[in-house]
Amino acid sequence: MKLPIASSAQVRAYAGRLFRVHRAPLSKIAVLHTLAAIAGLTGPWLMGRLVDAVADGTTTGYINTLIAIGAGAVLAQTVLIRFAQRSSMVFGEKVFAELREEFIETVTSLPLSTVERAGTGDLVARTTNDVNRLQHAVRFGVPRIIVAVVTVTLTVVASLIMSPLVAVAMFVGVPTMLMIVRWYLRRATPAYQRESAAYAALNGTITESVEGARTVDALRLGTRRMGRVNADLREAFEAEKVTLNLRTALFPGVDLAFVLAPVAVLLWGGYLASNGYVSLGAVTTIVLYTYQVTGPVWELIFWVDEIQVATTSLARIVGVQLVDTDRVERPGTPQDEDIAARDLTYAYREGHNVLHGIDLDLTAGERLAVVGPSGAGKSTLGRMLAGIHPPTGGTVRVGGVPLIDLPLEKLRGHVALVTQEHHVFVGTVADNLRLADANADEEALRRALEAVDAWGWVAALPDGLGTEVGSGGFALTPAQAQQIALARLVLLDPHTLVLDEATSLLDPRAARHLERSLNGVLAGRTVVAIAHRLHTAHDADRVAVVDGGRITEIGPHDELVAAGGDYAALWHSWQHE
Ligand code: ADP
Repeated sequence: MKLPIASSAQVRAYAGRLFRVHRAPLSKIAVLHTLAAIAGLTGPWLMGRLVDAVADGTTTGYINTLIAIGAGAVLAQTVLIRFAQRSSMVFGEKVFAELREEFIETVTSLPLSTVERAGTGDLVARTTNDVNRLQHAVRFGVPRIIVAVVTVTLTVVASLIMSPLVAVAMFVGVPTMLMIVRWYLRRATPAYQRESAAYAALNGTITESVEGARTVDALRLGTRRMGRVNADLREAFEAEKVTLNLRTALFPGVDLAFVLAPVAVLLWGGYLASNGYVSLGAVTTIVLYTYQVTGPVWELIFWVDEIQVATTSLARIVGVQLVDTDRVERPGTPQDEDIAARDLTYAYREGHNVLHGIDLDLTAGERLAVVGPSGAGKSTLGRMLAGIHPPTGGTVRVGGVPLIDLPLEKLRGHVALVTQEHHVFVGTVADNLRLADANADEEALRRALEAVDAWGWVAALPDGLGTEVGSGGFALTPAQAQQIALARLVLLDPHTLVLDEATSLLDPRAARHLERSLNGVLAGRTVVAIAHRLHTAHDADRVAVVDGGRITEIGPHDELVAAGGDYAALWHSWQHE
């Protein structure tokens, strides 16, 4: 199941909303560009006047005046373009920044279950490739299109005012151009998509072969991998050939239209002028206008192509916003810190329950160890208890309020899931900690680090809390990164922690050191420990045995051992290892 893609109607509605929201700056840009374009129209107009004046006989003074006006117009145009460009670039950046922020907001609040089901690849492609493609169109395309549309419209209007009779000849190239551009656009999108897909496949094959070089060697897959690379190259070559052919038809085709127009104006205008219908100056002006308009028309053609690509990306980006949330906030304040699961079921795939009606009560402050064979559903239960996924059936409540009714920020103040995966974000140590509590002051950060036994090394860093860490910054050891993650938990201060040790990747030495830090975090909280080593279970207040998606035994360690059930068998076999 992929993430949704917005329909064209939804994309149009979205783009329309963007334009409405930004009506004021857009109008300002349009006005500035209009003024600049009008200044740009002065040159050819003066040239026409000059031609007429010379033909009729004139004075040096008059010519000097015209030249002065022309110089003034060029100066005015330069200044206007400077401000118009500036405001359109600022506008493009601003809109793009807003889009990006909105997108990040959406992505970070996506239901985890949806992302997991769709695979992270899809989301990563949308946050990178699609955002990049859109970025180009929004930052450069939108401003350039405004300029081109304004310039083309004004130039055509000016020519028509000058002399409609001559100006009609400007349109001679239009049918040819429309035909060629339509022909091109119909074929361009699939052709360029095929090209991108071909290069993506080629990249994939080469990266895989290089990363798996040892496997390739060991299994003697060399020839087969070479064959795949060659096949991918052939496909990329074929795809490239198609787009190249498209371009070799488009460029001369459009150029032909561009040559046809001024030639037609010249011939038709020449005929009209020699018969005295129009002045030579008017013809000169319109020929120059016809030349002047080709630049912006080219630009429009170029951007129409780019906008098509960007629209596909926008549909994929807007699509992410269409994902239904998996929780709706409802009012309700937990009365206490007890957690209760009732008749809990969960299915990753519809109809395949991995938890079958679990009932569980956790009293505030108690420690529960969850044990059982791998695949029994321990991690799934842990994620339910931490409110990561809404249950398929039944409820998990904290102080009487279902976990999924709580807004995420509030939920994390009650229960948090701790895995041994951790991530250091690019930024300072303080930034990393403030992810948990944006308003924490330095004193609070220091206390949190002290609680996890990490203040010593943080204080010794070159800039202390202000040291840049994460990719490109000061390199932290995995254990230090884990301590930062634990300090975040202290700041978050949930009363219940679900500890999933399933992904324990740390070496035992680091693990022992971390145990101290961890104990600092666990003190005074309710703890559900999904245990893979039984000594954790031994220390807990109660032990729950999960098997086949059910709690089969639950009680204090000693009682379970005395009862002689599954847990007793597990415990004895572990002790004799
Ligand atoms: P445990 O933690 O006890 O090893 P899990 O809760 O990870 O067990 O898994 C319980 C069952 O759910 C297993 O059959 C597992 O294959 C399945 N399962 C776990 N995660 C997923 C997932 N993301 N998608 C589909 N099935 C899953």
